[in-house]
Amino acid sequence: MNLFAYERAADVEAAMQSVNADPAARFIAGGTNLLDLMKENVARPSRLVDITRLPLAAIEDMPGGGLRLGALCTNADTAYHQAVQARYPLVSKAILAGASAQIRNMATNGGNLLQRTRCYYFYDAGTPCNKREPGTGCPAIAGVNRIHAILGASRHCIATHPSDFCVALAALEAVVQVLGPDGARSIPFAEFHRLPGDTPHIDNTLRHGEIVTAIDLPSRGFAEHYAYLKVRDRVSFAFALVSVAAALEMDGGTVREARIALGGVAHKPWRVPSAEALLRGRPPGKEIFENVAEAYLEGARGQTHNAFKIGLARRAIVRALAQAASMEKGDDRHVHRTTTEPR
Ligand code: SF4
Repeated sequence: MNLFAYERAADVEAAMQSVNADPAARFIAGGTNLLDLMKENVARPSRLVDITRLPLAAIEDMPGGGLRLGALCTNADTAYHQAVQARYPLVSKAILAGASAQIRNMATNGGNLLQRTRCYYFYDAGTPCNKREPGTGCPAIAGVNRIHAILGASRHCIATHPSDFCVALAALEAVVQVLGPDGARSIPFAEFHRLPGDTPHIDNTLRHGEIVTAIDLPSRGFAEHYAYLKVRDRVSFAFALVSVAAALEMDGGTVREARIALGGVAHKPWRVPSAEALLRGRPPGKEIFENVAEAYLEGARGQTHNAFKIGLARRAIVRALAQAASMEKGDDRHVHRTTTEPR
């Protein structure tokens, strides 16, 4: 680990100024990813600006019926918040599918968005990696690529985004609120993360010095018909091979609105609005779910070790949609904090 300066920010303005003044400075909150990256010599910040005591942890109602999730609220406190559980259970379920109880107690909402890929080569500073050191190559393409992308990849990087929370946020069309030296911005969730293209070292559209202040959930919460299905190598503390956030609004026996986002398959949560549209006005059923899944996976391309993900994703979409469509009101509402999540 390299030497770095540490300071605790007194307010949001001071935090922004400190990071903005130094291109190698970074904000630190829960630190559940950044500290690992520093220990592995992948991240080498010159300065850490501690933002944990800034007043950005509230969860508040918004005018018009949405809910604002403070960037510094922990993942655990968000997942177990009464309003999130009642109005956005897809968010609770996705968060609780990720990491471990201990990590969810430390990790913040803003940090969850900014966590970096879990590509093995990225964490091994002894290997080349275009994401870590642009222009050095991507050993994952000809190497071990079981956990890598099947959609949206480039010849420069086939990494995936590891978050579960972000998959639910993509389906719900959340909006990321940021504040920076040039003022405040609202970033639609679909525009927050980016595909690797020929600049895979850039994960998202946040500018240096900008701080995520909140994540806004629109009023449409899909609380009656939703599913978060995560397929992984072990049942806990593992990243998704494939995950599906499915959210439906039903109108009698037909689908009024459908949202689907995939995790574990691309550099960002993956949505195909034209495939979602196939469901609108149709009664739910296996055949239409299979058509939607087929449309979602159009253009998918496997590597040596991960081609299985294409069929896995197809089946996971069908299953998640079936679960969401068949939910009875009141199902899946009882998510309790475990004894290892004390707050
Ligand atoms: Fe690096 Fe991306 Fe290739 Fe992994 S997939 S080695 S992160 S360039």
